[in-house]
Amino acid sequence: MEKYETFTYELDGNLYINLTSKCTNDCTFCVRNEHTSYFGYKLWLSREPSAREVLDQIPQDISRYKEYVFCGFGEPTMRLETLCEIGKELKKRDATVRLNTNGQGSMIAGRDISADLAEAVDKINVSLNDDNARDYVKLCRPAYGEAAFEGLQDFAKKCAARGIQTWFSVVDVIGAEKIEKCREIAQACGVTLRVRPYIKESD
Ligand code: SF4
Repeated sequence: MEKYETFTYELDGNLYINLTSKCTNDCTFCVRNEHTSYFGYKLWLSREPSAREVLDQIPQDISRYKEYVFCGFGEPTMRLETLCEIGKELKKRDATVRLNTNGQGSMIAGRDISADLAEAVDKINVSLNDDNARDYVKLCRPAYGEAAFEGLQDFAKKCAARGIQTWFSVVDVIGAEKIEKCREIAQACGVTLRVRPYIKESD
């Protein structure tokens, strides 16, 4: 697998920040398993960037992008300190900052990280992916096993309680029945549910 230094990339008017290629999940559907690139961007990293290296790629005119999004070929919260350093700086400059995550950040850190995130991001998209722990494990193969499913719900609940706009996302291919159950889980956590189409685009 060829690796690159693609620390940021543009998509849909947003600037995406790619902090790591490490992840605590090994999702069966993960685009990085089948593709070397995502919408033409080579996202497998040869090394992880420092906060300074990412901030150097942020335009002077912060309004050039709608949102600055932590999302790449790995789990951004595996680099919590760097994420928070970048996010705080972006928020200071009035940018809208979003985190796309598997929701296992507090499990990774071994503590509740919602207070850290409240200072660094405005929005969090947590991938819920399925409506129960057993199927989640089959689909996402988390390092934490079934505990990951409970852990990500607790994470979302705490982030929402801190005032971060938080939602769960699922892909429409799971079907109407599961989507309904996911909606109930989201409601119980005090977050919303977004259903998105499966992304095939890549090479
Ligand atoms: S959580 Fe995201 S990056 Fe990690 S394996 Fe799943 S789809 Fe890939």
